[in-house]
Amino acid sequence: MEIQRAVRVAVPGGIHARPAAEIVKLSKGYNSELFLEYQGKSATTRSSFKLILLSLKEGADITIRAIGEDADRAVDDIAGFLEARQDNHAQGAAEEPAPPSAPADCADGRLGAALHLDRAMTGIAGGSGVAIGPAFQFRQPVLAPFPPVAADVDTEIRAAMEAMQHVGQSLRRQAAAASGGTAEVLNAIAELSADPEWHARIVGLIRSGRSAGAAILTAGKDLAEELAALEDTYARARSEDIASLTRLTALQLQGKQPISLNEVPTGSILVADEISAAEAGGTDLSRLAGIVTRHGSAASHAAILARAAGVPAVFGVADPLALLEGAREIALDGDRGQVFPNPDASVRAEIIEQRDRAKAEALALQALVGVAPRTKDGVAITVAANLGSVEEIAQAKAAGAMGVGLFRTEFLFMNRNDLPTEEEQFLAYQRLLQAFPEHPVIIRTLDIGADKPVRSIALPREDNPFLGLRGIRLCLARPELFKPQLRALLRAAPFGRLHVMLPMVTGTSEIDATVAMIDECRRALIDEGKDVAPFVLGIMVETPAAVFAAQTLARKVKFFSIGTNDLTQYVMAADRLNPGVADLCRVDQPAVLSAIRMVCTAAEQAGIWVGVCGEAASDASVAQQLISAGVTELSMSPASILKMKNAISGHVRE
Ligand code: PEP
Ligand code: MG
Repeated sequence: MEIQRAVRVAVPGGIHARPAAEIVKLSKGYNSELFLEYQGKSATTRSSFKLILLSLKEGADITIRAIGEDADRAVDDIAGFLEARQDNHAQGAAEEPAPPSAPADCADGRLGAALHLDRAMTGIAGGSGVAIGPAFQFRQPVLAPFPPVAADVDTEIRAAMEAMQHVGQSLRRQAAAASGGTAEVLNAIAELSADPEWHARIVGLIRSGRSAGAAILTAGKDLAEELAALEDTYARARSEDIASLTRLTALQLQGKQPISLNEVPTGSILVADEISAAEAGGTDLSRLAGIVTRHGSAASHAAILARAAGVPAVFGVADPLALLEGAREIALDGDRGQVFPNPDASVRAEIIEQRDRAKAEALALQALVGVAPRTKDGVAITVAANLGSVEEIAQAKAAGAMGVGLFRTEFLFMNRNDLPTEEEQFLAYQRLLQAFPEHPVIIRTLDIGADKPVRSIALPREDNPFLGLRGIRLCLARPELFKPQLRALLRAAPFGRLHVMLPMVTGTSEIDATVAMIDECRRALIDEGKDVAPFVLGIMVETPAAVFAAQTLARKVKFFSIGTNDLTQYVMAADRLNPGVADLCRVDQPAVLSAIRMVCTAAEQAGIWVGVCGEAASDASVAQQLISAGVTELSMSPASILKMKNAISGHVRE
């Protein structure tokens, strides 16, 4: 069977390396041959390179063509991925912190006076902050020249394949030892090493008479040039990935081991021609004081990883006089893209002062890790963490989180093709509860639909998904999804202070139906001889209906958590994802603040507490108004916790 379908690409940033790798992975689950077609060009979904070279931007109208027995399902799946805007958006946001803007002036006063530009070498601002330290020149082993011509075609092909396979395996091993974004970056490059286009080009060159080494170098150079010629910044950055893959494969062919960045002494400023994502991903970059490279862009994976590790970095520094090469000490300003080889006394003093001030601020805030803040009027405020995965527990604890105010369970369901089992869910919830034995852990039941589609759950097509079957509505309509989650929660409850909250509630019937389902699950588990315990039930207030029904709802549950992201968009009738109405979609709009006050009054009358777990919870400029309204818990991403504790209690002068 052959099927074609027209779709519009909704993946933010278009089809760069990771979405391409994802499409390759998805299509491996089908027997059909799949192609994406755009402006007269066609790319097989088996090759990331082919897909990247199509240069598909967000909004591009393309055709998916599939030939084979399972063509219809395959097309559905790939179309779902290409059109599933927010699933990918969430992923992208986590992986790719925005590249820093052009070197800033010092209008914001954060970094004090501008340094002496006339004495600085300039490059691309790659990672925020200033640094100074001994220079460490990082160079990979030099490649010996390869014979240009193949001695024996089959032997050369075998040698090239073995080298490619070895590099792929070693990248995957590094990925397995890493986590989060780093692991994904390494896996994406490992995927490129197995790409059929990469293999076909190398084999083609060997068959035309080149040696394995010459073929690898030529194929790598050609592909890197083709990618570099694309308009898209991310695709261009992938040309750096293929350049590093080429070098790793060529080194492997000569039996040479690449030098690991782990060998760079802690606290030094790494100086390199470039560092590849493969090199950066396999190491703990936060050990380094700073990074300076002669090549590379702010959108490269290495830059993304440097920013994620919080290392000040400057990329693409022209060094015609080899000043970097001869430097013993280097100072750098990663916000302005300035580098000072062998800085003089005044630059040293300035950089050291700025660095120490930034460190002192961060350190001073550390004093608040164990603090339970109170306002000047003595109101105790719980500052908790919003988490999307158990991997974030350590960060939340280090930031002094007073429990978890929102665990978004939908992330357990995303970025995979199957559903998590009851057991998997139980283990995640248990781990979370055990990590915060002294504090409430609020786990939100599955909130999918609208901006959070999940690949393994087929949802009906809706004209207005934000007003459609999402959150608790979907869970109640699909007990086969909801019951395993409720069972996992009941089983996890004995391990800590479990609170469960329901998203998108509009009325009491949803609470009643959920409570009935919880009872049914509890009885079944007890019959099966499993340990269960009760948990505290609350709801999110994120619909205008819940605001107007707050008095009645408050009698049914033990707490409210206001989801200001959705509440704001529904109160203001302004899409939270549409930058064109961003001014309307603000929590400080009088109508939204008034809704929040109504909710707090209803809660107070019923004797239950109110928290806020939307983005507004981390906004110091509205925190006072939320607290004055009666909010006693603010839950936010771990990175904002210490600053918020300080904003509430005013302990530390920043
Ligand atoms: C909210 O709507 O404010 C909220 C916390 O939920 P989410 O952002 O996950 O929709
Ligand atoms: Mg919400």
